[in-house]
Order: sequence, then C-alpha cells, then structure tokens
Amino acid sequence: MQRLSIIGSTGSIGTQALTIVREDPELRAVVLAARSNIALLKEQIYEFRPELVCVFDHDRAQELDRELRDEGVLPDSDIPRIVSGMDGLCEAAAYEGSDTVLVSVVGMIGIRPTMAAIRAGKKIALANKETLVCAGHIIMPMIREYGVELMPVDSEHSAIYQCLMGEEHESIEHIYLTASGGPFRGKKRDELRHMTASDALKHPNWSMGSKITIDSATMVNKALEIMEAHWLFDVDIDDIIPIIQPKSIIHSMVEFRDGAIKAQLGSPSMLVPIAFSLYAPGRPHVKEEPRLDLSVLRSIEFEEPDPETFRGLSLGIRAGKAGGLMPTIFNAANEEAVALFLDGSIGFLDIDEAIGYAMDHMDNLPDPELESILKAETEARGLVRAYFDKGDRSI
Ligand code: MG
Repeated sequence: MQRLSIIGSTGSIGTQALTIVREDPELRAVVLAARSNIALLKEQIYEFRPELVCVFDHDRAQELDRELRDEGVLPDSDIPRIVSGMDGLCEAAAYEGSDTVLVSVVGMIGIRPTMAAIRAGKKIALANKETLVCAGHIIMPMIREYGVELMPVDSEHSAIYQCLMGEEHESIEHIYLTASGGPFRGKKRDELRHMTASDALKHPNWSMGSKITIDSATMVNKALEIMEAHWLFDVDIDDIIPIIQPKSIIHSMVEFRDGAIKAQLGSPSMLVPIAFSLYAPGRPHVKEEPRLDLSVLRSIEFEEPDPETFRGLSLGIRAGKAGGLMPTIFNAANEEAVALFLDGSIGFLDIDEAIGYAMDHMDNLPDPELESILKAETEARGLVRAYFDKGDRSI
C-alpha cells in the first residue's frame, strides 16, 4: 500500500494522479489539498475519502466543512479534518499517515510544503517547477540531508531520469531537453504582437493548465525546465540544450561521452510520467490511448529554437546562469505578466518585455534564503504591475 498526499488535487496533474489512484487499490489518496475549486474537491472527498484536507483559503475551508456536515453524505466520523492557509498546506505535506507527497500546485506557493514534506521524510513527486527554479540551492541539499527520494513529474525530467537510470553522472555530456515549440512555432515576432490568450491556449499536443500553456507559447516553460534539470541532474545550464520536436514524441534525451544518445518516447500523456513518479522503478499498466504507433508516425523532426522570437527562452537561460535571485525574478515577473495577459490587460509580447524589465531593474543576491526569495517574488510582481500601470514602456 502506498499512501499519497496530493498537494494540488484539483489541477491538471492532481486530477490525472487521481485517475491512477482510482485504478489501483494499493494506492490511496490520504491527503488532498486545493486552492479554491471547492466543488471538485468535494467530489474528490466523497470518492477518495481522504483523512486530511487542506483548502488554502480559510473562509472556503470553513464553508467546505459546513457543506460536508450539512449534506450528510458521510457520517460525521468520516468527515476529514480540514486545515487552511500556508500552515495547513505544510501540515498536509508532512501528514504522518502518508508515504509520498505529490506537489502539483502551480507557483511559488509550492516551495514551503515541499520543504515540510522533505523534513518529514516523505518521498517527493515534484510537479511544481518553481520549487527547484527558485530554491534549488536550498532544496537539493535538503534532499540529501534527509535522504528522501525526489521524483520529477514533468514529462521532460521524467524522460531524463529514465535515460539516466543505470548510468554514471560523469558519463553525461549533454541533456537534450525537447520542446514542442508551442502554438506559435515558426512565427516571427511581428506575427505574435496581436496574439490573444485564446490563440495561445491552443496547444498542439499537450493538455495542461492555462498558465503552463502560455509558458509553452512563450517558451518560458522551456527556460524553467532547463533550470529545473540543472538542479535535478546536477548538469551545467550550458550543457542542457533545448531542441524543438514538434510532435512531442521524444520527451527528452541524454548524450553520453561515448557519443551514445538515449531517448524516452511515447504519446504525449502526463499520465505516464505521473505514474512513473509514483511506481518507479516499477511500471503500472496505464490506460492511455492511443499508444504511440511508429508505423503511423514514420518520422520525427527537429528544429532549433528561435531565441530572437522567443526571448523568454534566452532571458530564462540568462537567469539560470546568473543564479541567486535571478531565476525567482524571472519566474515571478513571468507569472505576473501571464496573469495580466490572460485577463486581456497586456499583449503577448509584453510578457517577455516585462520579464526583461524586471531582470534589468532588480539586484541579484547569491545563495538567497527563502525569505529573500519570497521578498524578491513580491518585488518583481510589483515592478511588473507598476510598469504596465504607468504605461511607461520605454525600457
Ligand atoms: Mg514539460
């Protein structure tokens, strides 16, 4: 029996993880945590019967507790304890009755619960990019200190992990991090000026949350993944090469010093890397159709990314190399700009402009503590908002 805590159970990764839980009586979801989708969370509580639930928003947590009691679907003794806020999230992550914590929330809100889970000795299945991007220098030493297992959930990092099984670190020459190129692949900067949120949300291959889909359209997602891979696999940023493979069939590759290249392939489905993070080195049966059919596929194509059009990628690589607070500044400026873009306040190209502006106007700090990281996040977000409020766009 593996007992699982899902921090972010109502999002794209969380709901897919629950489909795996549903298939396997040996896998139980004992903790569910969500930000605000109470209707879905309530359905999940009735189906999966968790022991502890966290709703980030305090009022909504109380509301949920009231609803569960009023509806009378569960006897009072089976109603889970409900906690809230950051303390509640950390309590959920450290819950003593669980073995594995899937961190599938989006944003820097995932950092503290991940740290709480590591301190509690849990196996970590990490789907939250920001944890390693912003705090990799804190998290990786903690992983070693507490001797916990850290499994990547992101498809690229899961692929790299699989390619590296049985290999020695010193044999690695390069990591090829594959990218689909997103919905705007092949376009030039001028053609992107008037793209709207609904254009950018049409991802060709992957079905993901809206924030990450925009990050895929700007290629900021690939920059975040390069930084994540740097921490996970202890490989220099310069040795992690983004390459476009439009059909998302190759999930990533590793080139070794003898010239051999290993790749991991499959249909673009998040179910596979989620399941792998929970069962590795074993593999459960995953009901995912259609399977990759090589006779139908016939060919796999590659392209170089266009750093002039997709400046978010180049800015992210710059931030990753600078280290310290710069990845946080990059990430927070992007999050703020993407939110503004999604609500129609700014244009598509304003996203990378805002990131560059924040990176140019904030000071870096080597090896920042978590407090400084969170402070830089707030500052970068404020800077981006002020930049667009003032209409001062002359960088
Ligand atoms: Mg990915």
